[in-house]
Amino acid sequence: MKIIVLLGAPGSGKGTTAEKIRDRLNAVHLSTGDMLRAAVKAGTPTGKTADGYMKKGELVPDDVMVRLMEDRMEQGDANALYLLDGFPRTIAQAELLEQSLVARNGRIARVVFLDAPRDVLIDRLTGRRICRSCGMNFHVRNIPPKREGVCDACGGELYQRPDDNRETIENRLDVYERQTSDLIARYTDLGLLTRVDSAQGAEALAEQVANIVGQG
Ligand code: ADP
Ligand code: ZN
Repeated sequence: MKIIVLLGAPGSGKGTTAEKIRDRLNAVHLSTGDMLRAAVKAGTPTGKTADGYMKKGELVPDDVMVRLMEDRMEQGDANALYLLDGFPRTIAQAELLEQSLVARNGRIARVVFLDAPRDVLIDRLTGRRICRSCGMNFHVRNIPPKREGVCDACGGELYQRPDDNRETIENRLDVYERQTSDLIARYTDLGLLTRVDSAQGAEALAEQVANIVGQG
């Protein structure tokens, strides 16, 4: 399996970018945030553990994440290209991923670092609205739906993620600085990192990331 890691702070556009480019690259988009939210909704043991951490904007413990990812990679397709969105988020998770890939004859082809200033991230996260039915993302000012509270694509109801409130957002960004940003140096040293400016339009960003991935 071939892995592309999308690295960046909350609000940097990892999920949006992955959704925009996955079909064209014939890739599988794996979002640990989405996997965890599904586990919380289903009330699984993983979901029960994860819920409290997610509400506070803290990281779910590494051992829980590692089990979740191992299970997912077990079912993985050896020939597939994976876009990892939200994993790894700590050095321990990165080490585990590397070991796991050795065992599966896989490799990290590229790490794309989506970089944006904190004020842009906060603006994106505080204004984000998501469709309950199809998952499409909107923003109250930047990408407003045609009718307030209603999804343009499917007519579903728009909601705000419980961790998208100002206080939790600030904490998520601090946690990112403390626990995740070390990965930038690690992947730079390994010669795997490409930085992109995420504070550009979503279409232009997706285009740029697709080109980078296409070259890997
Ligand atoms: P964001 O990147 O905007 O914070 P995500 O949907 O990626 O949103 O993650 C939401 C929450 O899920 C995180 O705040 C964290 O609690 C948990 N989470 C997701 N991925 C991981 C991970 N790899 N390790 C630990 N916790 C994670
Ligand atoms: Zn919808």
